Amino acid sequence: MNISQTLISWYQLNKRDLPWRSTHDPYCICLSEVILQQTRVNQGLEYYNRFVERFPDVFFLAAATEEEVLKLWQGLGYYSRARNLHHAAHMIVQKFNGVFPPTYAELLKLNGIGEYTAAAISSIAYGEVKPVLDGNVARVLSRLYALQEQVDSAAGKKLLNGIASQLIDPADPATFNQAIMEFGALLCTPRNPGCETCPLQSSCLAFSLKRVNDYPVKLARTVVKERYFYYLVVTFVKQGELHLLLNHRNSIGIWRKMYDFPLLESPGELEYPAVLSAQPASIILNDMPFEISAISDEYIHILSHRKLITRFFKIKLQRQPESIQPYIAVPVSQIGKYPIPRLIDRYIRAEKLLVPGYTL
Ligand code: SF4
Repeated sequence: MNISQTLISWYQLNKRDLPWRSTHDPYCICLSEVILQQTRVNQGLEYYNRFVERFPDVFFLAAATEEEVLKLWQGLGYYSRARNLHHAAHMIVQKFNGVFPPTYAELLKLNGIGEYTAAAISSIAYGEVKPVLDGNVARVLSRLYALQEQVDSAAGKKLLNGIASQLIDPADPATFNQAIMEFGALLCTPRNPGCETCPLQSSCLAFSLKRVNDYPVKLARTVVKERYFYYLVVTFVKQGELHLLLNHRNSIGIWRKMYDFPLLESPGELEYPAVLSAQPASIILNDMPFEISAISDEYIHILSHRKLITRFFKIKLQRQPESIQPYIAVPVSQIGKYPIPRLIDRYIRAEKLLVPGYTL
């Protein structure tokens, strides 16, 4: 058996039973592939089921507001994926009457569909002979051929694409692509790959060189910068109900269109009085009497190239400030309706802010 046949046979015996594996519906395949980028299958499965239930086809997804989509995506991170998915749904409905274009080249023209997703949809839904290239595939190929090229460089991707194009089974590209991704996810894993039981052991150059852990070769990691976040959880009673201030993030950035609290961001650590005398606290509090009822422990939140070291200041006011622009006053009981970043979600859960009858 050649490499392709071996991968497919292994896949038939070992594949996980997942809902998107039993369909050729391009919408479901698109949804699953976008969700599974940078997400573990167990977590992704839950989100996939949620999305299919709420937005059963591309028309439902296109008709939703971006806020609804972000809310359903909440907790998955990398929110640009949700925005891109939503963009693509719009284009498919508006330009193609809700039918996904059937070729890689046409899919790639859609806003929000990248090379990986276009290859997955065109091969799995429509049988185009187009290899997918994700982290799993890159790892498997770089080990099989002991590739010295950095897999995340342009030259490395070109090389991997060339190899995958040679290996892909032209009679069944859908199964081949899913097989090699599953093989990388389950057997040829980043750490402790199952080389002893691997059906490709005799073809694997990295294994024969005893250098499995040296592959894949990658570009130097991006430097992770530390930022200090000081959030103000400003509460007051309005019309008999406990409210707090939310910030709608309209600027560009990973949390665009999501909600958080008024924020002071700093490149270095600040003393607490400095937090309260700087904006936005100085503007919100504006000589009003206030009480700091708690300052949280540090919450560490890691993004791809940022480490956010965060503290939340609970600030009680007697009434709503005169001017709360650019923030909005929201009843605490309603926060669950707003799309919020995972960092804020962690705090809200830890503080049990959504428990009925919550008081600060
Ligand atoms: S022998 Fe090990 S490194 Fe090589 S393909 Fe198999 S699992 Fe991966």
